[in-house]
Amino acid sequence: MDVVLLGSGAADGWPNPFCACGSCRDAAERGVVRGQSSALVDGTLLLDCGSGVPAQAVRLGHSLAGVRHVLVTHAHVDHLGPQALLFRSWASAGPLDVVGPAAALEECRDWIGPDDPVRLVPVEAGDELAVGEHLVRVLPAAHRVMADGDAVLYDVTAPDGARLLWACDTGPWPSDWYVAVAEARYDLVLIEQTHGRRTDLGDGHLHLGTFGDVLAGLREAGAVDERTRVRAVHLGHHNPPEPELVAALVALGAEPGRDGERLAVPPRAAGHRR
Ligand SMILES: [Zn+2]
Ligand SMILES: [Zn+2]
Repeated sequence: MDVVLLGSGAADGWPNPFCACGSCRDAAERGVVRGQSSALVDGTLLLDCGSGVPAQAVRLGHSLAGVRHVLVTHAHVDHLGPQALLFRSWASAGPLDVVGPAAALEECRDWIGPDDPVRLVPVEAGDELAVGEHLVRVLPAAHRVMADGDAVLYDVTAPDGARLLWACDTGPWPSDWYVAVAEARYDLVLIEQTHGRRTDLGDGHLHLGTFGDVLAGLREAGAVDERTRVRAVHLGHHNPPEPELVAALVALGAEPGRDGERLAVPPRAAGHRR
């Protein structure tokens, strides 16, 4: 499995363009700029497509011409910018499946032309489906747009057997949700850590403390083990400056994702494991 992080930042990016806090100034001075979180998997499958993501991809040197499937977690604008469907239609780019919760797909309808080969595939937590050559399991998110259940997470297995978890956006999982990922032994986990050192911003996102709690839960469930690479994404400016962030995440067995980072993810075993 070949994964390119097209973005590793929160909705507002990091630095937040309107902010002069120490964390944003430090990131700007280092030239570590993070756009809205998204990942391109095997060149064909896009995990989330926020309003800023297509331009981020181009600036990072990645074409989206080969994308045949978009997995949308929820309708927040940093995860779904449906206008991209119109821009794509000007490129005669061929068939596309947009997979996501029904409420998110509703946002797409007005941006699809009558002859545009775009198919909307509604899913909910608990579903399993083939998406092109990838197997996708839909997991619940402790996050909502308008109603419980209108945000999901994705568990993706590549044809070579490598398996990843795309977990943004989500707050802390209730303890009884971990059974859904029991013994998953992911090769790569991309999980949000939005709020950094701020613990007072609600439970729709993770901060460093709850990020550690979720990782511990995933380890206990056998979803994460010593061979799993864990990248924190959806990073916002309430995080400490980069060296402090790296130290805090390394202590938890993780690293911060960076825009443009390419992760070659070798499988543990050949072929689909499920
Ligand atoms: Zn978000
Ligand atoms: Zn969100």
